[in-house]
Amino acid sequence: MREQTQQPVIILKEGTERKQGYEAQRENIAAARAVAEAVRTTLGPRGMDKMLVDTIGSVVITNDGIAILEELEIQHPAAKMMVEVAKTQNDEVGDGTTSAVVMAAELLRYAEELLEQDVHPSTIAKGYRLAENKAQELLNSIAIDVGKNDEVLWQVAATAITGKGAEAEKEIFCDIAVKAIKLIAEEDGTVDTDFITIERLTGGSAAESKLIEGVVIDKERVNASMPASAKEASVLLLNAPIEYKKTEMDAEISITSTAQLQAFLDEEERMIKAVVDRIVETGAKVLFCQKGIDDMAEHFLAKAGIMAVRRVKKSDMERLSRATGASVISSLDAISSDETGFAGLVEEKSVAGKRFIFVTDCKNPKAGTILVHGGTETVAFELQRAVDDALHVVATTFEDQRVVPGGGAPEIELSVGLRDYAGRIGGRSQLAVEAFARAFERIPLTLAENAGFDPIDTLMDLRTAHERGESTAGIDVATGKSADMVAQGIVDPLRVKTQAIASAAEAAIMILRIDDVIAAAAPSPGELPPQAAGMGGMGMPPMM
Ligand code: ADP
Ligand code: MG
Repeated sequence: MREQTQQPVIILKEGTERKQGYEAQRENIAAARAVAEAVRTTLGPRGMDKMLVDTIGSVVITNDGIAILEELEIQHPAAKMMVEVAKTQNDEVGDGTTSAVVMAAELLRYAEELLEQDVHPSTIAKGYRLAENKAQELLNSIAIDVGKNDEVLWQVAATAITGKGAEAEKEIFCDIAVKAIKLIAEEDGTVDTDFITIERLTGGSAAESKLIEGVVIDKERVNASMPASAKEASVLLLNAPIEYKKTEMDAEISITSTAQLQAFLDEEERMIKAVVDRIVETGAKVLFCQKGIDDMAEHFLAKAGIMAVRRVKKSDMERLSRATGASVISSLDAISSDETGFAGLVEEKSVAGKRFIFVTDCKNPKAGTILVHGGTETVAFELQRAVDDALHVVATTFEDQRVVPGGGAPEIELSVGLRDYAGRIGGRSQLAVEAFARAFERIPLTLAENAGFDPIDTLMDLRTAHERGESTAGIDVATGKSADMVAQGIVDPLRVKTQAIASAAEAAIMILRIDDVIAAAAPSPGELPPQAAGMGGMGMPPMM
């Protein structure tokens, strides 16, 4: 144990809580590890789910690391840094969140052991950096180039959803994910997953889920007297309100006679009619408006046989533009047939009791919507998260064309490689590199444990395989023994691992380097900004 620093002079505001040195480190590490503990049992194909109930009683059942951490509303500052790890992982690559958090916690666990042996935090940090660089280098050397290969895309999707609610309908969801990504891929091979949306539907069975090539909008036409469908339709996209212009100034119009009122209304009608006439002239059969459409405009549009939808989301407008080839016009003056696009079919349909506008049969849609059916809202939510993971891993693999074996294989390979490397470094950093090597083993250990096998037996088996040079050996969750993951089609995108290792190391180092925590006194209860709740309060009991 280290000596505590004395604080003879008080320089901080009354009530400020301060923890220094080893005490600060130990508390931060305990908090960070508690976060990993919250998600650890969900890892892998046999991971369990969590049921989370919020203050108003709504229930979330999930296996998804990031979903759990977001629901938990974690308060402790160091614990929040772990949540950031998961968020970064999710934003950057869409999968591998649990692995990243578990790895970061494990790095901290061994760091604490080294601190107890009086190894300086900077030495540990330095060793961890060396280890991280080496690990990335080794990881790259075992990555497999897969080129453009639909089967591998399918396999990464399957690996991502195994163990989640969507697994029961794996075939359907993997097919959907691969088709969706190929649909929106650019010629240069990049993929922007924003062009795929997932609509969650409560009712029906998961097997009814499908990919719609085109855009599905969660809206109805503005007026029931408008046509409910349009074929071979010219489409206009407008980002301006079709309403009588409100004056810029706060002018008051005083109307003193019915004749004046009539003149005023006539003027309004003339203006709206003129706009609708211009729309009719473009030949548009369908109008999507990002802003409002007033009653009078509605009336004229209906009379002209135009199907119109108002207050369409900006993101939907972008997708519509991409699918139909129409540009989004931002002023009424710019309405012209040059700006219209095309859809083979636009129709309002009801699916699982909800009305949608389907825009399909476009020439080169490059945008898609996945309709995910779940028997209940909770199921539908969890399916959506799984499909979202699948989409991201397929997109990443499509772009990078590089994968690594799953099932803990790369972690063991890197662990073995790092141990070897540590021997060549010497000095105290060697201890940290060895700690990094041990931390990697937590992934296969946890996969084995969650699948109900003796983790140590499995680990030994895997280590032996890797030392024999079987770099693709991972855990077979049916037997608990080592097996060739590539032969079984269990592969993860390289980028998911690269990112997980990078963010785990970064977070661990950052938390480790803090040796002084100064938390302001809490303001009066009831109006706490979350970070001020600070030091003591964790949402869950600390684990050891
Ligand atoms: P994460 O949030 O880290 O993605 P998951 O619960 O999705 O957590 O688990 C991912 C891990 O499970 C990866 O290491 C992956 O290779 C592994 N995995 C997935 N499917 C299988 C399988 N069929 N057999 C063995 N390991 C698998
Ligand atoms: Mg996953």
